[in-house]
Amino acid sequence: MGIVDEDVVRVREATDLVGLVTQHLALKRVGSNWVGLCPFHGEKSPSFSVSAEKGFFHCFGCGKSGDAITFLMEIDHLDFPGAVETLAARAGITLRYDDAQQGAGRRHRSELVEVMEAAVSWYHERLLTSPDAGPARSYLRSRGLGGDTVRQFRIGYAPDGWDLLAKALRRHGELLQEAGLTFVNKAGRQQDFFRDRLLFPIFDAQGDPVSFGGRVMPGGTGPKYRNTAETPLYHKSRVLYGLNWAKNEVVKADQVIICEGYTDVIGFASAGIPRAVATCGTSLTEEHVKLLRRFARKVLLAFDPDAAGQAAADRVYAWEKAHDIDVSVVDLPPGDDPADLARRDPDALRAAVERARPFLGFRVERVLAGADLRTPEGRARTAEAALSVIAEHPSEFVRDPYVMEVADRCRLDPARLRQRLHDGVPLPEQRQAPAPEARARPQATNRADVVETEALRVAVHDPAGLSLLDSVLFDDDVHREAFDALSVADGDLHVAVGHVGPDAAELLARLAVEASDAEAADVASRLVDRAAQRALVSLEREARRADDPLDYAATIGWLKLRLEELREDPIAGLPPEGQLVAWLVTWAGERA
Ligand SMILES: [Zn+2]
Repeated sequence: MGIVDEDVVRVREATDLVGLVTQHLALKRVGSNWVGLCPFHGEKSPSFSVSAEKGFFHCFGCGKSGDAITFLMEIDHLDFPGAVETLAARAGITLRYDDAQQGAGRRHRSELVEVMEAAVSWYHERLLTSPDAGPARSYLRSRGLGGDTVRQFRIGYAPDGWDLLAKALRRHGELLQEAGLTFVNKAGRQQDFFRDRLLFPIFDAQGDPVSFGGRVMPGGTGPKYRNTAETPLYHKSRVLYGLNWAKNEVVKADQVIICEGYTDVIGFASAGIPRAVATCGTSLTEEHVKLLRRFARKVLLAFDPDAAGQAAADRVYAWEKAHDIDVSVVDLPPGDDPADLARRDPDALRAAVERARPFLGFRVERVLAGADLRTPEGRARTAEAALSVIAEHPSEFVRDPYVMEVADRCRLDPARLRQRLHDGVPLPEQRQAPAPEARARPQATNRADVVETEALRVAVHDPAGLSLLDSVLFDDDVHREAFDALSVADGDLHVAVGHVGPDAAELLARLAVEASDAEAADVASRLVDRAAQRALVSLEREARRADDPLDYAATIGWLKLRLEELREDPIAGLPPEGQLVAWLVTWAGERA
């Protein structure tokens, strides 16, 4: 990760979480915690809770949780090093990096960003002022892109020459090549990568320039769009054009629009919808979805998902489930792209965004709209086609309303259609829908086992209580993971959270802001009771199946006795005097 662990700890300790949070929302003291309205989801009564003492926050509404670094990452959309660097600067701490290479890596990155920035400025100036950019300027004007837009999006022009950029920038050849701005041609000479093209500079989410999309001039040669090749700065499956400008609006609206072209993004902005982004000449990837999920839940596709073949239905449904997003489709008039519509009829574009339909609804409507519903044969064909689209959705509760709609429009009995769906309709292209359910992670917050949760809560607030417990006492995987991490970290919550998966991390952060008035020994005793009870049930089952049940009798008898003791005197079964935990550990070890 780059920054020395010790320095991350110093930054965390030097940061007052309550002070940091109150720069973004008002907090009120309640008991030992502070509460306020969650900045990450809309709410009217406060469920966002901060523990100053533990240095953790948790929202009981949306489940977001973490420490000062996580808070800053979420609220300012920073990556981990970025958040640590910001907090370090505020606290006056000078950071050290893991090794010279890491520090050098970051220095090298800023060199590349700096040379890209110089190229963006040079190309942009060239478009604004150079006589040879005249045709480029008139082309842009003809497309409705005036001077203000050109300046806002820093559009540029690459002149028709061999090495004008390389000569103008006067940087080391290797650096220019690494940034994708030049290459060495067959004659062994350095040559500009872009020539006689309109350039749309592409920035990462933080606003650093990372690449260009180059559009051919009317009558020019070569592909319509040519993009910078992959460089250390630019990975096209992880970058979205326009996100740097759109992100604040996207967060405010909790909605992002994905379109296909640079001019579409600009069109949306000029129509007063400045929350569109575009993939840079690739299909939408899961990396893109993950990136966007940091900013919004609602994703609107502003391209024809069928025609573009960009978003296979099964992938969309899997993403909806795995990343908790809602995907809808903006129904554009046939043959219109957002850029054209924004210029011709911005009201129509705004209306199309407002009318966006859920992904499945859009696809069903597409089938119904193109159908001949005048004859029984036509209606049957249409119903079959619609059902095969509906069948791809993994949730019965989503499928059913669409089945009803199809039944209604095709004048068929909904029960028959449901049966047909249940028996299985042929899927298009014989593609089998995957089971995205398998990928969904269980909700830590919904875990019903209160005793295990209470035991963990005690362990979080009173690390001394850890010594009374053991990993084998926890039946739930996530609980066990959280407990193990706490033990290894010797009760240090921040260390523990850094070493567990997302479910256990969320659980630990939530427990940190929950008060506990339970007695450690009492909770431990209840936990031991339950674990012993589970062991007893399992031994009795084995005994019933064994050739000689008497083999088990002694053990079962001993275990029952210990359980009785424990119930009479809750402290008796606990370490160090009690034998029950020690026995459970050995027993679990033998069975593993
Ligand atoms: Zn929340």
